[in-house]
Order: sequence, then C-alpha cells, then structure tokens
Amino acid sequence: MTDDKGRNAKRVSDFVSEERLWRFHMEMAKIGATPKGGNNRQALSPEDAEARTLFVKWAKERKFEVSMDEIGNVFVRRPGTDPKAPPVLSGSHLDTQPTGGRFDGIYGCLGALEVLHAVDDSGIQTKRSIEACVWTNEEGTRFSPGCLGSDAFAHPKNLRKFLAIKDKDGVTVGDALADVKKRMPSVDSRPLGFPLHAFVEAHIEQGPILEAQKKTIGVVTGIQGARRYIVTVEGEDAHSGTTPRSRRKDSFFAAVDMVNALKPIFTENDKDDILRFTIGRFEVYPGSLYVVPGRVIFGIDFRHPSLDTLDRLGAQIESVCRKHQGGCTVKVEEIVRVTPTPFTGLIPETVDKATKELGYPYMHILSGAGHDSQNIAPLCPTGMIFVPCEGGRSHNEIENATPGDLAAGARVLAETMVEIANR
Ligand SMILES: [Zn+2]
Repeated sequence: MTDDKGRNAKRVSDFVSEERLWRFHMEMAKIGATPKGGNNRQALSPEDAEARTLFVKWAKERKFEVSMDEIGNVFVRRPGTDPKAPPVLSGSHLDTQPTGGRFDGIYGCLGALEVLHAVDDSGIQTKRSIEACVWTNEEGTRFSPGCLGSDAFAHPKNLRKFLAIKDKDGVTVGDALADVKKRMPSVDSRPLGFPLHAFVEAHIEQGPILEAQKKTIGVVTGIQGARRYIVTVEGEDAHSGTTPRSRRKDSFFAAVDMVNALKPIFTENDKDDILRFTIGRFEVYPGSLYVVPGRVIFGIDFRHPSLDTLDRLGAQIESVCRKHQGGCTVKVEEIVRVTPTPFTGLIPETVDKATKELGYPYMHILSGAGHDSQNIAPLCPTGMIFVPCEGGRSHNEIENATPGDLAAGARVLAETMVEIANR
C-alpha cells in the first residue's frame, strides 16, 4: 500500500491526510464566519443548512451513502462486508455558539469524515460499516436544551416533544428543520435510533490541561455530572430613604449571606481543584437605587465527576439558604441534574492501544463540558478522544488548534474505528 504522498503505508492511520483534514476545517469555517475569525452557525439556521450541505457534498463526492433521520442527524456510511451488522459510528456537531469557534464539534464531524476517506484510500474492507455523523443542535443556544439530536436518537419516543420546542421568535424545531431540508440536497431517510455497535467522538479539549501537560491525545475517562438551581429570595420593596433597618426585608443582603455561606462548602475540601461551582446569574429587583430590593433571583451551577459528591453537596443548598434568609423567604428549585458518564471498556481501551502504537504523548482526562456522547453512552460502548486547543479557549471566536494535533487525533480515531469494525 502507498499513502497520498506515495510512501509505504502499513495501516489505516497512514492514510489520514493532515492537509485534507485542515482544508475541510478551513472550508467549513467560511460558513457563518464572524469578523473576529470565529463562526456563528446556530442550529437549523441557513448557515447550519449550508454547513450540512457542504458535509454531504464531500461525502457524495466519495460515493459514500448519506442519510438523515427525523431530527435531522446526518449519517455518512462506508459499508462493511456485513451490511446487517450494526455500524461503528463517530461524529459530533456542526452548529456553534453565536460567537463560537472553528473547531468545537466541527472537528468531531470532519475528523470522522477524514477517517472514512482514509479507510477508503487504504482499500481496507471492514466487517462492520463505519459511519460519520452530524448531531443536530448540540449547543442549545437557539433551541434549548442542547444535545437534542443525540437525545432524540437515544429516546425516539420524545421526537414529537422535541420538534415542538420553540426558539425566541416562536419558530419550532420542526419548522426550522423543514426549512433546512429544503435547502439541502435530497438524502435518504433513516429511522431514528437504529442499533449501534460502538460510538466514539473526537473533540478539542475546550480546556487547558493537554496543552499544559504537553500531551497530544487525551483518552477521555468520562464526563462529569452537573446540578443547576434557581434560588428566589423574596423580601419586600421599600423606600430606601425612609425605611429603618429594623423594618426592612432586604432580599439582596439575605442572598449575599446565602452565597457567602455556600462558597466555603463548595470550595473547601477540594484541594485538587476538581469541583466547579459557579453563580453566573444574580438579578436584583426592582433594580432601582431608591428601593430596598424586594426580590433576588440567582442561579447555581456546580459540577463534579462523582455522583456521591453531587448528591452530598446538592443536598445542603436548600438548608444553607434557609438558615440565612433572615426576614425574607427563599425558594430553591433544582432545574437540571445530569449524572456523571464514565467511559470504560472497549472504547477507552482501544483508543489507549492505538495511541500507544502510534507513539503520541497522551494522558487520561475527564471532560468538564457536556457532549453528545453522554446521550449515546447508555446505548453502546462509547468514548471520546481529545486533542489540545490553544490556551484552552473554547466557545470563543479565537478558538484554535493545530493541523498536526487534529491529524494525530484523526489517526487514533481511524485505528480505533477500524479495529472495532472488524470485531
Ligand atoms: Zn462541542
């Protein structure tokens, strides 16, 4: 066998082309490009339709089979010798945040497409089909919640409910999807939630660890869990000039006391800096300089890989808030609870083996961000491969990664998929 430069090639990863993979990224980044060098390609927008169209065009040029399911997830298939055997799937998302980067999610789709090209160039026949996919609406900015396409794939019964979700202008997922389909070339339809043999998602790390540790590959051991709360503190609006302290029900001071009491609980005993505790929303009403605030609403997001820790700390929030409510009342509502997703067995073991064989510096790493893999993990052996991103910056227009690191991740992905597709 010889690779794209005529060199002797022994294995599928020799056929991964760094140039082609980088060109895929740079072509894709032209769609919804922002002035600061990033992308605004929100889910099921005209830009998202254009991105999918380009992805499908590249697939069809290589005569791969293309299909789409009822929530708009796109699948590109290189058939195996046993067409009935469930496929090995890899992919991520092409949608971005409004000020998103060129790699978050996109790399997982284009890396998987590159693997299909590499396998095809090598002439290797796998037993199982290998497929690249684009999950619909991972980011969740336009339509909430995120990871909608993979969620629907895992829970087809929820399809109708998902199609009825509206954006801020009242447009439903169903209507936006119909628009996207009109703009795309026709592709075969595929039932939602077909059987999978295995799923592996390549992604930029979106954090600073791999770069700091000088590692090319992160073998992902799992995705941390999260709990989110809305806390509403009710006091009483009062004249700021005439109301003595003894008569006030100041919701702001009560809320500050609550936050000050919560902070040490969530930061002490966390020497290794693993727990993520954020109060990213704090609203004071009515928001006048002349009124003692009668209401405060604040939001808590905390994340940790251990279910025990999530349970133990989450259980304290309400009682701590009550203890510091003073003359006000407080309501604590949990709005999101995501259990941690460990990746064990087939995928991390095969990724590990491939990485060692290819000789890349690597480490085991936990994902701080959520990914589509969380939804697929209950269905089949699942895992992820991380590559470094510059300065750990993501969800930012200046998000960056090197062609070499992206290609290294694609080589590991190629070896992993081919190995599993022959089982
Ligand atoms: Zn992503």
